Amino acid sequence: MAPALCAICKVSRALIIRPKNHQKLCKACFIAVFEAEIHHTITSTSLFSPGDRIAIGASGGKDSTVLASVLKTLNERYNYGLDLVLLSIDEGIKGYRDDSLETVKRNAVQYDMPLKIVGYAELYGWTMDQVVETIGKKGNCTYCGVFRRQALDRGAKMLGIKHVVTGHNADDVAETILMNLLRGDLPRLARSTSIVTGDETSEVRRSKPLKYAYEKEIVLYAHHKKLDYFSTECIYSPEAFRGSARSLIKNLERVRPSAILDVVRSGEDMARLVPEEVTGVSHCKSQKTSLSSADGEDQGAGGCGTNGRNSGGEMAEMEKKLQQDEEAAGREIDISALSNNANGQRHDRIETKPEPRKAAKKDVGRKLVRQTLGTCRRCGYMSSQEICKACMLLEGLNKNRPNMQIEVDGEEESSSLRKGMGEMALAAG
Ligand SMILES: [Zn+2]
Ligand SMILES: [Zn+2]
Repeated sequence: MAPALCAICKVSRALIIRPKNHQKLCKACFIAVFEAEIHHTITSTSLFSPGDRIAIGASGGKDSTVLASVLKTLNERYNYGLDLVLLSIDEGIKGYRDDSLETVKRNAVQYDMPLKIVGYAELYGWTMDQVVETIGKKGNCTYCGVFRRQALDRGAKMLGIKHVVTGHNADDVAETILMNLLRGDLPRLARSTSIVTGDETSEVRRSKPLKYAYEKEIVLYAHHKKLDYFSTECIYSPEAFRGSARSLIKNLERVRPSAILDVVRSGEDMARLVPEEVTGVSHCKSQKTSLSSADGEDQGAGGCGTNGRNSGGEMAEMEKKLQQDEEAAGREIDISALSNNANGQRHDRIETKPEPRKAAKKDVGRKLVRQTLGTCRRCGYMSSQEICKACMLLEGLNKNRPNMQIEVDGEEESSSLRKGMGEMALAAG
C-alpha cells in the first residue's frame, strides 16, 4: 500500500492525523497550518496593535510555552511590531512550580524575551504550600485562581504593560462554557467565550490567542517543534466540578472530534443572545460598570487555568506515545492513538436572532449584582467590592495562621502582608 500523502502539499508523506479534523498532514504542513490558524485568530479579532507591549503569562507548561513560541514566530514573520515579555507567577508549590520556573528561565533565553517573576509569598505573605497546609487540599484551587489572576495583573502593572495573553486553549474554553452552562450562569458563560476578557475591575486586558487550538494539537506542535516545556501537572488537584467538566469534554471529543470546537462556537452563539447589559463586556471594551452574577471571578480564575489540570493523565499518555513513536521511525502515521471516529464534521450553524427568551432573562436576573469600579480598602488594588476577593481570602487564612499577630479593626494587616500590599499598591497606583 502506498504511503498516504499530505492532504495539503500532496508531496510529503503524511505523518500526523490532525486531532481537530483528522486531516492527514506532513510535519511541515501541520506546523504551518497550526501557526496560520493562530495568525488568523489574532488578525480577525484585531487583537494587537503595532507597538503593543504584551506580557505572556508563562507557566513553563505546554500551552504557554507554545503560545510564547508561536507569538515570537508570528511577530517576526508578519511584523506585528509587538514587544513580548514573559510574566510568571510563583505560587510557591515545591516540586512543581520551582521546577517549572526553571523551564521558563530557559525559555526566556531561548526566545530572547525578558522575564518577570512575581510570587504569592511577596504579594500575599502566603505560599500555596502554606495555604494547603492551613485549609487542606479541598478548595485550594479557588484560592490559587483568585491569587493568580490578581498576581498577573499586578505583575503586568509593575512592567507597565496593559495586555496579558494566556495559554488557555479550546479545551479550556469548552470546559468553562460547559461549567457555566451546568451552573445556569449565562452572563459568565457569555463573558468566558470572548477572546478578550479584561474584566471591569482591571485595567489590564487579558486575551487567549489559543482559544481555538486543541490541547492535543498544542502537544503535537510542542513535540514536533521540540519545544522545552515542563509536563508535570500541578500536585494539588483541581476542584471536582472542573475536573468533571474536563472529563466530559474529553469523552465527547473521543466520539466526535469536532465537539470541542462545536462547544466553543455554541458558547459564542449563546453569548450573542445575552443582552450586553447583562454580560457587561461583550461589545464595549471600555465599559466601566456592568452586571455580573459574581464578583470578578471569571474563566480560568476559578481553577488552574493553564497552570495545571487533571485530564486523567491523557496528555501525559499522549506525550509518552509521541516519544515512543519518535523512536519507532518510518511508520506511515505516527499518532494512530489519536484516531477517533472520523464522522464528526461540523454542521453549518443556524443564524441566530438576538432575541433572548423571557424565561431565560428572568432566570438571569435572579442573581445579578451591579459592579462598579473602585479600589480595595485593604490593598488599594482595583476591585468591584470594598474589600477585594484576594483580601477576603487572606483574611480567612490569616485568622487560621498560628503565631501571627493580626489586628482586625479592618485597617491593619499582618506586617508581611502589609509590606507586600503596600508595595503593590504603589505599583498599581
Ligand atoms: Zn505537507
Ligand atoms: Zn485587596
